[in-house]
Amino acid sequence: MTTELNPFDVAKKQIDIVAKEMGLDPNIREYLKRVERSLIVSIPIMMDDGSLKIFEGYRVHHSTVRGPGKGGIRYSPDVNLDEVKALATWMTFKCSLLNLPLGGAKGGVRVNPRKLSERELERLTRRYTAEIINVIGPDIDIPAPDIATDKKVMSWIMDTYSMQKGRSTPGVVTGKPIEIGGSVGREQATGMGIYFVLQGLCEKLNFNYKELSYVVQGFGNVGGTIAELLYNDGCKILAISDISTGIFYEGGLDIPKLLEWVKYGNYLKDYKDDRYKLITNDELITSKCDILIPAAIENQIAKDNANNIDCKIILEGANGPTTPKADKILFKKGIHVVPDILANSGGVCVSYFEYIQDIHSYFWKLDRINKELKRIIIEAFEETYRISQKRKINLRTAAYVIAVGRLAKAIELRGFFP
Ligand code: GLU
Repeated sequence: MTTELNPFDVAKKQIDIVAKEMGLDPNIREYLKRVERSLIVSIPIMMDDGSLKIFEGYRVHHSTVRGPGKGGIRYSPDVNLDEVKALATWMTFKCSLLNLPLGGAKGGVRVNPRKLSERELERLTRRYTAEIINVIGPDIDIPAPDIATDKKVMSWIMDTYSMQKGRSTPGVVTGKPIEIGGSVGREQATGMGIYFVLQGLCEKLNFNYKELSYVVQGFGNVGGTIAELLYNDGCKILAISDISTGIFYEGGLDIPKLLEWVKYGNYLKDYKDDRYKLITNDELITSKCDILIPAAIENQIAKDNANNIDCKIILEGANGPTTPKADKILFKKGIHVVPDILANSGGVCVSYFEYIQDIHSYFWKLDRINKELKRIIIEAFEETYRISQKRKINLRTAAYVIAVGRLAKAIELRGFFP
């Protein structure tokens, strides 16, 4: 893998860029380029057919300087330690940007969950939890959903942890079902955050977001939610994609029908509508539109295709979809890139609300969740925008100036042990 496409190299490069911009203490710069701890575990699973398969899992804490670690767990056949380290690093910056009293962590298991039965998936989740049990907990590190993990997986983690500790511990994970300590609004939160940030930026640029055209890469929790919110407001969504294909229709896709289709495990490539054209991932990313929302995986906009991007705004629903080389090209082209640590931070923000609600055993109503989410994310957006204008830098570096600034202050105040 080239350095441009290694997510941890990307994260380190981003730290170098902001360090230079801020004149950051070189000791702190080097410290932020390391993770606090990485745990690699083997997960032996008895498969339904009686064979034994051993999967590899990870949990990484990048920083707990500002609070316990926080970040999702992804199930993917491609996940690896460097990717998890990068994702943990981005979580640190995301939580710091929103000024949440949390650090950054991430986990993953190298598995294709579509190839496992429900019982196998449960055994895998429970064994993975048992293997990482000493590094998670409400005041150590609180996992959450990420790619291919959901509230069912969070229930199994919560149950396994609680059984081992001998007490019900809802605060060990967020993204749980409501019935066992989950929060209303958590499932939609990442999409909702994108929606608020979009409106904030459109206000600055004097655009009416309802009159713009959209392309969304990814149709999972994040892509699906934002596409639905936009569709409900009458916005035109020209293209979306899942792992099977992209689909395009100039007249605007019928998002509710497509959501209903994928809900039962169907692929977009099998959806039948003669008006819809199947397109490749590269065609999707470079489609002409006003707003592009990459909401899938890392490295989708790199130096090879950045010149062909044809939109006004990019909202990063995924973590790490744009490489630093692409960032430079997009900045020159005048495209506004709202970085992942801001655009997709709605998820961890409502995770934080869930965690507080679990600790207090007192649960909020949806209007309070969305009001507080909007307040926190818009505050972070306003500050990011202000700094980008003042320093004439892109929104990513501006967001990092805030996030790294807060972290540097916390590191300085705590000092280095011993
Ligand atoms: N996996 C999500 C993210 O990348 C959410 C993390 C969380 O809620 O802790 O931000």
